Amino acid sequence: MSARSISILGATGSVGASTLDLVRSNPDEWRVEALTANSNVAELAQLAQEFGAKLAVVADERCLPDLRDALARSGIEAAGGSAALCEAASRGADLTVAAIVGCAGLGPTMAAIEQGGVVALANKEALVSAGEVMTAAVAKHGATLLPVDSEHNAIFQCLHGEDPSDVRWITLTASGGPLRTWAAEQIALATPAQAVAHPNWNMGAKISVDSATMMNKGLEVIEAHHLFPVGLDKIRIVVHPQSVIHSLVEYRDGSTLAQLGPSDMRVPIASCLAWPRRMKTALQPLDLPAIGTLSFFAPDEERFPATRLAREAAQAGGAAPAVLNAANEVAVAAFLAGQIAFTDICALVAQTLSGTLPSAPGTLDEVLAVDREARAKAAEALETV
Ligand code: NDP
Repeated sequence: MSARSISILGATGSVGASTLDLVRSNPDEWRVEALTANSNVAELAQLAQEFGAKLAVVADERCLPDLRDALARSGIEAAGGSAALCEAASRGADLTVAAIVGCAGLGPTMAAIEQGGVVALANKEALVSAGEVMTAAVAKHGATLLPVDSEHNAIFQCLHGEDPSDVRWITLTASGGPLRTWAAEQIALATPAQAVAHPNWNMGAKISVDSATMMNKGLEVIEAHHLFPVGLDKIRIVVHPQSVIHSLVEYRDGSTLAQLGPSDMRVPIASCLAWPRRMKTALQPLDLPAIGTLSFFAPDEERFPATRLAREAAQAGGAAPAVLNAANEVAVAAFLAGQIAFTDICALVAQTLSGTLPSAPGTLDEVLAVDREARAKAAEALETV
């Protein structure tokens, strides 16, 4: 089989690194088209050279001169800024991996979708914010969205060949994060270092904080709602601290299908890279006797209110999910910068969602406008916490 082309948006991040690790193990199967980063020039230039990318893009245009210097005489094209990012995404690679963190990835992800190709989506914030706008673009352009998120990838696998109308429940598993067993008073005092110390997964800082607040699972409920339209009331969460079962689908005949695997993003990413087939990975097989016990708990929305906020935003629809996401991004950044306490994250999101919300966005530009407005409102609310 001839090599397929791949572009990785967010190549310098955690999902980007896992993707490139799989490409590195199968060099004959891939031609790297474009790699992008925000500002990490050194890493991006090194990766572009290692993988022989045709194009390297920094979203932060101020970093472009450094990128050009780093890639001088390499023959690799360098570009910068948000238009260049969208241009990289629209190069029509056989597979585009959308692994930018936050709503910043929405424009480039939509640009890839508009090419009508295959997009492996890790960037959940983009789908949460753009919801119907993104799924309509997928349908209009005949694109294929493959879910990278381990839970959604699990559901995607469990739904294969099934009729969605036979689904009784989709159950997203949640590790519960590093603060799962903490008392409410301790949670209020959690530091950024404690919040990002995830027990099972090694991920970027933003999603690690989202896992600690359980907002990650809230975003995932909304993500699942768009990817697998079985009805919001059929999507539920169970806390499963071992992160061995990545999600489950129960059918109306009483059968429940689950996908299991190690807590390593290379498993769902490999499933997307090889789709609709399978590829070999160097990962250790799952050692069930060594794992011994799998346990399950109902989520505690008193200590972790984020899942309730997200579900309410999904039920409200319209602009609410984009506002929820934008406020959460502002709050998590402020928490990581030491400006607010851990429990202020959800308080800030709730405050930004209160009052009149913008009208439902129907286009990409309108989603981006809602995102900007919600960020401004959340930044204002930051002054009062
Ligand atoms: P990281 O923070 O590790 O990496 C983010 C990537 O996005 C980096 O390449 C970064 O570039 C780039 N980036 C950051 N800000 C911008 C911006 N404003 N414009 C353009 N590019 C930008 O994130 P993760 O890899 O952890 O997560 C990526 C996405 O995947 C998130 O949406 C996350 O929710 C999702 N996801 C992640 C999982 C994981 O295991 N990490 C699991 C499931 C989903 P630079 O290095 O220059 O800052």
